[in-house]
Amino acid sequence: MASSKITDVLLRVSDLEVRFPAPSRFSKARWIVPVNHVALDLRRRETIALVGESGSGKTTTGKALVRLLKPWGGQILYNGSDVARWSGRKLHQYHKSAQLIFQDPYGSLNPVHTVSQHLSLPLQLHQSQEPGTLSEKIESLLSRVGLVPVQEIRDKYPHELSGGQRQRVAIARALAVNPEFMVADEPISMLDVSIRADILHLLQNLQNDFGLSMVYITHDLASAYYIADRILVMYGGIIVESGDSGEIVKKPAHPYTQLLLAATPGSPVEGPLPETSTGAPNLLLDRQGCVFYDRCPHAMARCQVSQPQLKSIAARHDAACYLYDDRPSEALGH
Ligand code: SF4
Repeated sequence: MASSKITDVLLRVSDLEVRFPAPSRFSKARWIVPVNHVALDLRRRETIALVGESGSGKTTTGKALVRLLKPWGGQILYNGSDVARWSGRKLHQYHKSAQLIFQDPYGSLNPVHTVSQHLSLPLQLHQSQEPGTLSEKIESLLSRVGLVPVQEIRDKYPHELSGGQRQRVAIARALAVNPEFMVADEPISMLDVSIRADILHLLQNLQNDFGLSMVYITHDLASAYYIADRILVMYGGIIVESGDSGEIVKKPAHPYTQLLLAATPGSPVEGPLPETSTGAPNLLLDRQGCVFYDRCPHAMARCQVSQPQLKSIAARHDAACYLYDDRPSEALGH
């Protein structure tokens, strides 16, 4: 939900593009484009959610934002400088400000390191100016993420912890370097249903306490609505709809968002998402027409020709769909 604490822009992303060479069977189109001209703003203390199925480009976008990937093109303005071009020492500094929490808390921890060892390294690298010994700082972090009793937890190895505890260690490790923003990539999808709400609640509390911004990546619109101020829906590497969380969930405009919502358990109009003809969105550079064409129940002849641009359809609500070219926003009940 939108917070009154949200202030100025921390990250301004424009025209972001990530490309990989296509496998040789796609010899005519030499490139796959999993992130295609993405633009977004992330404000201080704001949470935005990138929502979409597998292959939507949301994880690749997240990795580009924290610069685990070098973009092919576009800008990532951070405090006015383009981190898309940074390397070496400047990039190392940026990696302290921008932390990634992975989907698999077990895979992201070193099985032969104790909890304490996982937190010592970033704390030592960061050379925190906060008072206290290294041991006290570790205990403080563990306590902040709810890993108690800290004296018992600190000497455990990952295999001795539950999935939820492991994800809390991963979150503590991200916090150890005092980041300005975190990208949380499906942080609850591999956890037991009973503890998912606890981890979301923890992320929310930490964001408030530390004044963080967050990019929350998920396939689940319900959890995005719970945690995010704004939702950006991605399909085939493109942002197809964006707006305030309540607006997107209550008045979804793009056919993909509508189908995604209907596929959410508990939805009043529950129904499965239609399959693609190929099993995945077409990410090839020379793809033509709307990225959602082969699954769209409203596809028209013009949709085969070119990709519609993201444009405003109501206050703080954008969609990339030809349905809204001639139909004003009354079609949505605005
Ligand atoms: Fe469907 Fe056409 Fe809109 Fe694409 S542009 S989502 S194919 S109606």
